[in-house]
Amino acid sequence: MLYLVEHFYSIQGEGKYMGTPSLFFRFGGCNMRCEGFGCVETAPDGTQVLGCDTVYAVNKEHFSQNWIPIKSAMELLNILNLYELPRHVDIVLTGGEPLIYANDTIFVEFITALHQAGHQVTFETNGSIGIDFEQFPIYKKFIYALSVKLSNSNEPLSKRVKGNVIYTIASNAKEAFFKFSIDADSIDLGLEEEISSIIMHSPRTKVYCMPLGGSKAEVEANTEPLIEFCKTKGYNFSDRLHIRIWDQNKGV
Ligand code: SF4
Repeated sequence: MLYLVEHFYSIQGEGKYMGTPSLFFRFGGCNMRCEGFGCVETAPDGTQVLGCDTVYAVNKEHFSQNWIPIKSAMELLNILNLYELPRHVDIVLTGGEPLIYANDTIFVEFITALHQAGHQVTFETNGSIGIDFEQFPIYKKFIYALSVKLSNSNEPLSKRVKGNVIYTIASNAKEAFFKFSIDADSIDLGLEEEISSIIMHSPRTKVYCMPLGGSKAEVEANTEPLIEFCKTKGYNFSDRLHIRIWDQNKGV
């Protein structure tokens, strides 16, 4: 079953296309939990759930009662009619981890229709789920923001870094770039080696580093040390505009 958590029209808040008006589809479910990010959210049943800043789109056990089961591609496509959108508006597919649905018939039908209608589509993915580009060549038409998780996620290395997946996506995609969430405390703790060991799987792919945080205060605290890190290493700094502007509000 395909689950949609929310949709909203906003600007892209981070990465290469920061500032671009985009219609977001947030899908439910993820193959990771990233409890190391330390965000806590209260579930509908009152449970305090630890995870990343989108834990409400990750943790099926506690949040799925708010997720929308999708039974046809048309249900998703009709969402575009709910907004007054510019023609060919950018579409961002995020989560959770949207590529857990990569082989789903409804999902493939949806992304095919978006491409045929002339939309630029970006996947925000953790880069750990393989795509069968032979069986589904439509995936070659899209952009991939590879937000490969670092050790600060507390996920095991073998689960979060899959060199063959990174390489295959980056070498088949229309475009790909790395996007890392970094907190000030991690900068001196072998971060450069960690990033290098990931980007070696696709050395020509651009790197964007973003301040970690689920709140404006956390993002601000991590910003200046990260800018210094980027200046030293030659990586691109990316803000997280949506958090800086709207703080912890969802759906913006
Ligand atoms: S991979 Fe992304 S969406 Fe999934 S738990 Fe980690 S940060 Fe959250």
